[in-house]
Amino acid sequence: MGARSPERVEVSRPDKLLWPALGITKRRYVDYLEAVAPRMVPWLRGRPLTVVRGPDGVDGERYFQKAASKHTPPWIRTVRIPAPSAKRDVDYVVCDSAAALAWLGNQAALEFHPAPVRADRLDRLDLLTVDLDPPEGAFEAAAEVALEVLEVFGELGMEAGVKTTGGKGLHVVAPIERRLSQPELRAAASALARIVEGRMPGKITEEFRKADRGGRVLLDPSRNGAGATIVAPYSPRERPEGTVSFPLTPEQLGSVRPADFTIATAPGLLDGPGPRRWDALVSARSRVPRELLTRK
Ligand code: ATP
Ligand code: MN
Repeated sequence: MGARSPERVEVSRPDKLLWPALGITKRRYVDYLEAVAPRMVPWLRGRPLTVVRGPDGVDGERYFQKAASKHTPPWIRTVRIPAPSAKRDVDYVVCDSAAALAWLGNQAALEFHPAPVRADRLDRLDLLTVDLDPPEGAFEAAAEVALEVLEVFGELGMEAGVKTTGGKGLHVVAPIERRLSQPELRAAASALARIVEGRMPGKITEEFRKADRGGRVLLDPSRNGAGATIVAPYSPRERPEGTVSFPLTPEQLGSVRPADFTIATAPGLLDGPGPRRWDALVSARSRVPRELLTRK
């Protein structure tokens, strides 16, 4: 730690196609990351980071990587997390700068999955996330539930934002004070899920098995643990169409589709209302109200 980050990260094999169907080369991908960095890095800063690497792009082999590569330069921060069972601790990358993001892009990190904790307090979550997985081909069902989740957060006096995941559904994210233990926070997330369920009977399920969801949106409160991750806003997904996770406003929920936001289109949308909303959200810290903690 301590070494200064370079002004510009050199791109190796710049013509390598990472998203061939979109014509996105490594050079263009690193350009994308540099364009979104001012809005994306604040959501990565201080957080242990897991990435999906794809050295040969989305058509090649891909893998989740938690441990920082051996040749990670000294100007990129890492944080050691003791492994609960296995013998070996893991040194995670902490992406604190645009240069670190570009360096990871050059390493063909195609997806960015930060932890909901910061390195100075690894056991306390500072993000409460509602992961909404719609039934096959029914994004609008997730959008409808997301609107209700945002409404409930608002009534509880909590600030929250919604984004596409770059996959099928949506994430509603509320930055919170680091007051609650993990069991307390999980209980609060479940209480929130039950409030939403009570208002939309038959539209939500906590059932993991797809066959048993019966066309309902999966709302999974158990995502809220220190060891969980949630894809970062602006992170691409390892999909051929190059979709990215993109911040929305509640008003947009009825009119947008996940496919609207790709590595090609997102840079032109960075000054829109969703990104502006999320810029403000990153420094919010809501207190989880008593109502969620005592509800049975
Ligand atoms: P979708 O909208 O398609 O569900 P998603 O990002 O929400 O996209 P989920 O499968 O619901 O995908 O997972 C939620 C989060 O959990 C992801 O954003 C990711 O950070 C993390 N996650 C999912 N699968 C894995 C995995 N195999 N290994 C590590 N983390 C994972
Ligand atoms: Mn999901």
